[in-house]
Amino acid sequence: MEKETATTMRTLTLSACLAFAITGLVCAGQPQKRPNAVRLEQAELYTVTAYCPCKVCCGKWSGGPTASGKMPVAGITVAGPRSIPFGTRVWIEGVGERVVQDRLARKYDGRFDLYFSSHKEALRFGKRTLKVRILP
Ligand SMILES: [Zn+2]
Repeated sequence: MEKETATTMRTLTLSACLAFAITGLVCAGQPQKRPNAVRLEQAELYTVTAYCPCKVCCGKWSGGPTASGKMPVAGITVAGPRSIPFGTRVWIEGVGERVVQDRLARKYDGRFDLYFSSHKEALRFGKRTLKVRILP
């Protein structure tokens, strides 16, 4: 009988540990409550789309320079909101660092638009909601 009680106690302790572990995980999913997650706190959610130099994406500006005057470069160029100056480096979740060199049409201002060299890649990226951090 004593043995059974001990087993029950162990099971209870284990359950408590599991519950704590799960709670811990849930807390970890809320970076704003963790003091060491400052980097994430400064990131904001943005709609991120993609484009390429083709006529479908750029219309009459197809093949031309970006709004900043620079030629777009895949892996570097991103179009950003008008509130962010050209040359500003941004970090985009799952994408990496990009430089704001272009603008979107006014009705899409407030989004980020990633430059890709091919329409296929731009289509594959599609439209996502991602964390974006403006780098100093
Ligand atoms: Zn395109």
